[in-house]
Amino acid sequence: MKPFSLKGSMYLYQQSLKVLPAGTGSNARIMRAVCPIGTPCTIFIDKARGARIWDVDGNDYIDYRLGYGPVILGHGYPRITRVVNRAQKEGAVYALGNELEIELAKKIIELVPCAEMTRFANSGTESTMVAVRIARGYTKKDKIIKFEGAYHGAYDYMLYSTDSPFTAPRRKPYPMSWGIPKGIDKYVLIEEWNNFSSIEQTVRKHHKDVAAIICEPVMGNAGCIPPRPGYLKHLRELCDKYGILLIFDEVKTGFRLALGGAQEVFNVIPDIACFAKSLGNGYPIAAVTGPEEIMSVVGPGKVLHGGTYSANPIAMAAGLATLDVLERKQVHEHIGKFGKRLMRGISAVFTDARMPHVIQGFPSMFQFFFTEKNGIWSYRDLEACDRNLYASLHVELLKHGVMIDEDNEEVIFTSFAHHSQELNETLAAFSDAVSAVKRAPRTMVGGRI
Ligand code: PMP
Repeated sequence: MKPFSLKGSMYLYQQSLKVLPAGTGSNARIMRAVCPIGTPCTIFIDKARGARIWDVDGNDYIDYRLGYGPVILGHGYPRITRVVNRAQKEGAVYALGNELEIELAKKIIELVPCAEMTRFANSGTESTMVAVRIARGYTKKDKIIKFEGAYHGAYDYMLYSTDSPFTAPRRKPYPMSWGIPKGIDKYVLIEEWNNFSSIEQTVRKHHKDVAAIICEPVMGNAGCIPPRPGYLKHLRELCDKYGILLIFDEVKTGFRLALGGAQEVFNVIPDIACFAKSLGNGYPIAAVTGPEEIMSVVGPGKVLHGGTYSANPIAMAAGLATLDVLERKQVHEHIGKFGKRLMRGISAVFTDARMPHVIQGFPSMFQFFFTEKNGIWSYRDLEACDRNLYASLHVELLKHGVMIDEDNEEVIFTSFAHHSQELNETLAAFSDAVSAVKRAPRTMVGGRI
């Protein structure tokens, strides 16, 4: 086996520091646990195919980050590549209508329970941003309730309490970036996920000002935290009772937990749903969708939505082909089987090594936590998890050819391209990595920068 080295990555990182702020194209890519040069840095990737990804040093990893989730079919899935190549021959952007957007909207309406009309965008951020504006435009109210630990994209209204320090007050919006104007926080109310009574009190008190409750129906940015039984229904009922819209941010769960997303799995139908990631198997695409009555507030002179690249033909072609493969190929069945075996296998490795843990979520999207707790039900439960141990394990896993995120608050994603060979290699890597971590425990804080 070739010795593990990140020399080439570190060379490129030093170069990137001169031209890219913080040496990266996106803050979350800076890793703190892997530090061959003694400071946080990032790995540079050469290529990715199927379930595997190669860095510029030639290290080959089984990929469970999958680009933060989009790559549900595997990297470079041939059908999607073919369709995109064909589409790009006809031009990349028209800034006018094209028939593919009607087709894709129809497909989404067919698959997604809440969907009657859809607008397309390019990123999850854009989709939740317009969803929030639609909710405000429709209800004529301004405040939004979001949950601590939930991430909905990189813009001012939603960049509160996504990853707050555990010392911060629980209900006070905690800004996650410099540059957010003072006063934006008065439009945001922070709630605790899975706390039935607290949100009820907040809604009762503030409903006259609250346009929407926005949530990830399964939290996928604070590890993987499903709703407690009945919790989504509780949110639905509160919204109905108090004239508030329920927004499901299905950017991670959409087309991944099931073809109809988390709303299909839990049988709770939101007023607006946001999709991105798995809709395009890696190509930049997003959608915001809901019933005609609500979506009709979008239009000239009403709620503004648009953009040069919205519904561009390449993204539409990628989206249509991805949904077609998801429908035809029993992708979810395959991922379900693979993911279950992986979850069971990882848990067995930790049990054998006497490492108290919980593993939770869905076969297509899950996370494990080193904790004595029986389950993680809200962001604050993460405080009782050994996230340093997780980050150390991530480093050892890299050395053994498996890539999970270093941040315990991310999730492990699986794809149609993960097969028995990847399963066996992954579990062997987990065994070896656990032994290495136990031999040389490290103290390093995981978490986003
Ligand atoms: N919502 C959720 C639930 C997400 O996980 C993300 C990204 N991880 C976003 C929104 C933002 O998506 P994007 O990075 O495509 O802007």
